[in-house]
Amino acid sequence: MAVALVPEGLLPTVTLSLAIGAQRMAARNALVRNLQAVETLGSTTFICTDKTGTLTQNRMNAVEVWTPAGLLGITGQGYGPGAQITGEGAAAPGAAAFQAAQRLSAAARAASVGRAVQHEGQWIAEGDPMEAAIDALATRLAGPGGRAAEPTVSHRFAFDPRRLRESAIVGTTLSVKGAPESVIPLCRGDGGRGDGGGDSAGDSADRALQMVDQMASHGLRVLAVAQRSLPGRPGARFKLEEVETGLTLLGLIGLHDPPRAEVRLSLQAARDAGIKVGMVTGDHAFTAAAIARETGLIGSPEVVLEGHNLPEDDEVLAALLDRDGVVVSRVTPEQKLRVARLLQHRGHVLAMTGDGVNDGPALQQADIGVAMGLSGTDVAREAADLVLLDDDFATIIAAVEQGRATYANIRRFLTYHLTDNVAELTPFVFWALSGGRFPLALSVLQILALDIGTDLLPALALGSEAPSKGALKRSPERRHLMDAALMFRVFALLGPVEALMEMTAYTAVLFGAGWRPGAELPPSDVLMAASGAAFSTVVLGQLANAFACRSATVPPWRLGWFTNRLLLWAVLAELGLLTVFLFLGPVAALLGQAPPTPGGLAVALAAIPAVLLADWLYKEARHRRGGRAAPAAPPKRS
Ligand code: ADP
Ligand code: MG
Repeated sequence: MAVALVPEGLLPTVTLSLAIGAQRMAARNALVRNLQAVETLGSTTFICTDKTGTLTQNRMNAVEVWTPAGLLGITGQGYGPGAQITGEGAAAPGAAAFQAAQRLSAAARAASVGRAVQHEGQWIAEGDPMEAAIDALATRLAGPGGRAAEPTVSHRFAFDPRRLRESAIVGTTLSVKGAPESVIPLCRGDGGRGDGGGDSAGDSADRALQMVDQMASHGLRVLAVAQRSLPGRPGARFKLEEVETGLTLLGLIGLHDPPRAEVRLSLQAARDAGIKVGMVTGDHAFTAAAIARETGLIGSPEVVLEGHNLPEDDEVLAALLDRDGVVVSRVTPEQKLRVARLLQHRGHVLAMTGDGVNDGPALQQADIGVAMGLSGTDVAREAADLVLLDDDFATIIAAVEQGRATYANIRRFLTYHLTDNVAELTPFVFWALSGGRFPLALSVLQILALDIGTDLLPALALGSEAPSKGALKRSPERRHLMDAALMFRVFALLGPVEALMEMTAYTAVLFGAGWRPGAELPPSDVLMAASGAAFSTVVLGQLANAFACRSATVPPWRLGWFTNRLLLWAVLAELGLLTVFLFLGPVAALLGQAPPTPGGLAVALAAIPAVLLADWLYKEARHRRGGRAAPAAPPKRS
């Protein structure tokens, strides 16, 4: 009974179908790091995506430089040195605005590690693309003289997502670049220093903040650049807190990062699939909102939250977050984790992207942590369940589609395997309830031969069905794999029909040999032929069942009998195995069966139409009752 109850074939089928799903995802640039993620992806209800690199191309270009002396526009291609410079003093490299911009770009370059380098005749980014763009900017402003020498940095305070800035000491000069909110308050004249009316530093801070808003609202990422000279000899050691203070603001850089063209369609696909999408970024609210508008991510009404004034109350924040198109800007890694927790608390199955070292906890917290293959850190990749090899948002949607397909396939072969279990258990029930007077139709070895012999390949074929066309057109499944509909199909319909045919075939052979219930057991050759008939019935019933299980709503002839090639091969193999199990003497003897009588065989063959008929009646009834509205679309022809 234990052997009959346990679907032995299920574990290998589940594993292999997840592996097939993972392989198909990999072919679409989505690398799954644990197999279960394939199934979880299918039920994703919310995607939190970052901006840079996922929604945008992460191909930065410094297009504006603002200094207190004026605003310059820079038009250049990629990371190359050539550019056209417009704005105040553009025609005259000796002009104040131009010189100020040169100083600013040199300082920003000193505080950067990434560089624009020439590779096979092409200028490309080495390291952080934003820093490469700063390098290119410095070269562009340096003019025909070309690239400045590499600054000799004696100490570097690297970027971290809480400080939001990076600084470097060259000689006795400290250069800082970073988010304006983080850098401008460190500049002299801002805040406490109010020493009377003509405070020009305070003025320029105000003007700078206005410029930040203006540049950011055009979708530019804005960096502030500042400098100070340090006391003491060159190369002296300093603590971070002592040096990043009393700075002089040099100005702002506005960087353009074009949105990915395909994102708009992918966002639409996510919405059609009933998945909400939000943006969670470390960038400025205006920049985030502008990119969200450009890509069509932002919802209406527009909700743009800022990290530093998120509501304290979890319920309030959760309610704010739980909407399609929400934008959360200037978040710290801790806030990202909080966002993930709250969305999950609202019942969402959450996929969250991240690329930084500090994103690890949030990626781990999310149901599906998504890391970037091209630009991300190893830490993020280690913490993730899914790695986007192309860093592209569209790839998440492709993975969700395959995840849904795999989920549907698991339901298919679950129905298939469990039906078999009903047929395997029934002989035992007859035997037990009759106190042993009704002989056992199937032996343990026969049951195993069904579960991990004849059943296995058709189940695998069901596990590799291609995604149905409608997979991304309906809302995420929120039901258990084994829901009422599946249970009904298995335990009230397909299973009993198969079992009924099986017991009919069995008794047909016994009765044909003159046996009646209660009488002495018939001779063993009769028992073996009867058992062979029961076994054949289950195999042939399962053959029909495999086709029936391809869809829960559409009968096999509407799907087309030949549209799953693998299933055809699997069914051929199943018939081959049946022949071996029945006719190859030693194997048949081991299983305790023999070829059925013509009468037994006739009943066994009748199992095929019987199962198909029961399945069709079920699907018709379901169709009549209206069933679930959408999913009548048959799977894609493969
Ligand atoms: P995103 O969500 O767009 O990836 P990040 O968390 O990478 O945002 O960056 C947040 C902010 O930190 C940026 O808007 C920028 O102002 C600042 N920033 C990012 N990288 C650097 C860096 N290398 N040096 C200085 N500041 C940086
Ligand atoms: Mg980033």
